Amino acid sequence: MKLIDIVVPCFNEEEVLPLFVDETNKVIDGIPEYSFRYIFINDGSKDRTLEVLRELAAKFDNVKYISLSRNFGKESAMYAGLEKSTGDYVIIMDADLQHPPAMFPQMIAGVEEGNDCCALYRAKQKGESPIRQLVSKMFFGFQNKISDVKMPDGAVDYRIMSRQMVDSIISLCEKQRFSKGLFCWVGYQIKWIEYQNVERTVGTTKWSFWGLFKYALDGLTSFSVTPLRFIAVLGFIISALAFIWIIITLIQTLIIGIEVPGYVTTLCAVLFMGGIIEMSVGVLGEYIGRIYIESKGRPIYIAKETNLEDKDNDLNG
Ligand code: UDP
Ligand code: MG
Repeated sequence: MKLIDIVVPCFNEEEVLPLFVDETNKVIDGIPEYSFRYIFINDGSKDRTLEVLRELAAKFDNVKYISLSRNFGKESAMYAGLEKSTGDYVIIMDADLQHPPAMFPQMIAGVEEGNDCCALYRAKQKGESPIRQLVSKMFFGFQNKISDVKMPDGAVDYRIMSRQMVDSIISLCEKQRFSKGLFCWVGYQIKWIEYQNVERTVGTTKWSFWGLFKYALDGLTSFSVTPLRFIAVLGFIISALAFIWIIITLIQTLIIGIEVPGYVTTLCAVLFMGGIIEMSVGVLGEYIGRIYIESKGRPIYIAKETNLEDKDNDLNG
């Protein structure tokens, strides 16, 4: 019987976890052709998430958990789960039931058809502010335009992947992970299916607007050097315009003589160029900062406790 690991990153999800397991078990019971195992990753929760996971593990044999030493972020938590997974297939989903387990049969059918991955995208973003919807749309549009990885608008992390694909993803050892992109970057045959987003019923979203902004920036910078090219092109255009302006001013000076009042023009030029230079340094800084962090070679996560057996429980291997 094929084993399917369900990797679930959890950060302060004490309220929803028992419900999550109940709901998911109902779906799993309807798919007896596969055996399922949960791998929860407690991402440094401040609430009773770890205790709840211990209780669930005592109650159900197929509940495994890894507890990280602090909050490393969802990306690192997902990596920890993928790395420890051994199943023939691996499902990644959120703990908050926004990723409906009822999609399992369709997803499994998707990979059994011969695809390496069956991934989901939100059909309609219920329960999200219009601003967030707009930002999401802009993000996916921009991301697809400037980088090598293409994904549909509303693509989420909820997906099932073959062992081979999971192994490829964990072989990418970058520290600043943007999984949505990495999942596409590794290639393979991905089947996209639509799902209806559900509102979070318990707990609150862990993303702040600033957090999402940083996430989007990570996405753009980890898959594209277009911003760097953009500032080079901008520099070229400004130089060309400046050159034309210099010629005009020179000719004017030679013919009409020196025109002394140039206060406004000078000030505009200096301020404008100052702004452009600041911006360019900022873009360069974004990339250099990323090189700096990568170059330290720190681990992606540090695990403190797990109930995974034998070869799997080598905590940080
Ligand atoms: N999560 C995590 N670490 C974090 C933030 C979030 O493991 O630092 C988990 C969280 O517990 C949930 C999933 O990532 O299972 C998605 O988080 P959330 O529902 O807050 O995000 P949203 O659905 O609003 O995008
Ligand atoms: Mg959620």
